[in-house]
Amino acid sequence: MDAEERPGISKNTLDAVSERARLEQELAHAQEELALINQKLEEKGDFGLGEGASTVYEWEMNLALRQAAEAKIESIKAALARLDQGTYGICEVCGQAIDPARLEILPHTTLCVGCAQASR
Ligand SMILES: [Zn+2]
Repeated sequence: MDAEERPGISKNTLDAVSERARLEQELAHAQEELALINQKLEEKGDFGLGEGASTVYEWEMNLALRQAAEAKIESIKAALARLDQGTYGICEVCGQAIDPARLEILPHTTLCVGCAQASR
């Protein structure tokens, strides 16, 4: 079914321009997210010890979120760098083209489906 809808799409056909636009958009979004989390973490200072355990919980959750946002930003930047080098969309392990559908969901992945499953 999929093959019929997209005839002639070769595994290596990636529109670098639109991929870049998509990644840059995602990067901007992730940076906004990070700024928001940082804001929350800064505000927390004024709360002092008010809410006890739940404040600590929220603080830790925001720390975890910040870590995740930072990791996301790094991986998107890495994806953009690979786009520059022409290695974007190529599996790091086996060197095969990564399924474009997979890249759409996970733009910063460096592994094809097979290798990702094997590395688990
Ligand atoms: Zn692979």
